[in-house]
Amino acid sequence: MNFIEIKNFTEQLIAWQKKQGRHHLPWQENRTAYRVWLSEVMLQQTQVNTVIERYQAFLKRFPTIQHLDRASIDHVLAEWSGMGYYTRARNLHKCAQTVVDQFDGVFPKDPKKLEDLPGIGRSTAAAIAVFAYGQPAAILDGNVKRVLARVWGIEEDLSKGAAIKKLWGHAETLLPQTSADLVTYTQGLMDFGATCCTQSNPACLRTSSMTCPFMNICVAKKSNLIQKIPLKVKKVKVLKVDMKWWIVIHDGQVLLEKRAEQGIWAGLWSFPEEISLPKNVQQIDLSPIKHVLTHRRLNIQPKKVVLKKNLSKINDNFSWVAFSELSNLGLPTPVKSFLKDLIQAHDGA
Ligand code: SF4
Repeated sequence: MNFIEIKNFTEQLIAWQKKQGRHHLPWQENRTAYRVWLSEVMLQQTQVNTVIERYQAFLKRFPTIQHLDRASIDHVLAEWSGMGYYTRARNLHKCAQTVVDQFDGVFPKDPKKLEDLPGIGRSTAAAIAVFAYGQPAAILDGNVKRVLARVWGIEEDLSKGAAIKKLWGHAETLLPQTSADLVTYTQGLMDFGATCCTQSNPACLRTSSMTCPFMNICVAKKSNLIQKIPLKVKKVKVLKVDMKWWIVIHDGQVLLEKRAEQGIWAGLWSFPEEISLPKNVQQIDLSPIKHVLTHRRLNIQPKKVVLKKNLSKINDNFSWVAFSELSNLGLPTPVKSFLKDLIQAHDGA
């Protein structure tokens, strides 16, 4: 990269952000470290429209880092319910506890210190440092990687060390020299990747009012490599998993199991998959459920049992939960929707 390229890219991106970037996202108002951090973690694997809605609800329930620190993990997971990738919610909780315990409830300004906190990677640390504290630091999320790779024609696998090193080098070199431009530039990178240079339909290939300022310098455009950059790597094989759910009901309560901290729906509440029941209780096979996760295709067979008498003994990780208390627990999406139907049927019975 020569000086002209750097200067042009940075200046043009800043100008583009001012005219065509996003200016009214909820986390662009009152940019505290807590609000920036929360939005960044939510945006990691969730679409912006979903985040807009869930971000407001999360902040309403946990308005400050102290509220999040004091909350139980079940309440945090309940609020996160339906957004998937629950490790993010567990790390949010751990991170809030660490910031309150070790930093008196104030996120550090130094990106290196931010990076040491649970669930905060280098790019998220940089976003917090820039937006909340005006500290110079480079972001490099998936969208930014794609933009830089296309503009500079990086055809390698972007998940590999050599390419990542090169991209971080570019990202740091391109940072504006004046702190006044830092926020606009960083927001511009995010907005440009999310709305202009998108994965499958970048602005230069579509008819739209949005224009790309890099048409004349972008290597991917000039060399007809847009569909090849970023390089598509082979997808991980999706495994089929057969699962049994025991829907055990007694006295307006349902039996749930807190799942192990590893594996599918780690740490969330679901129906027991194995249980010892009294002899001769009636087991009703309900309609099977199919549910697709990132790397798993689940075939679930729910079996319903209504008990007149309570079980004499249940496992330590099982719990009877009243229907009215279910909203306080972190439940995987299919469990949540199954319970909703079950309660409606129960109320209508
Ligand atoms: S010219 Fe096309 S591929 Fe290149 S940066 Fe612009 S939108 Fe992206």
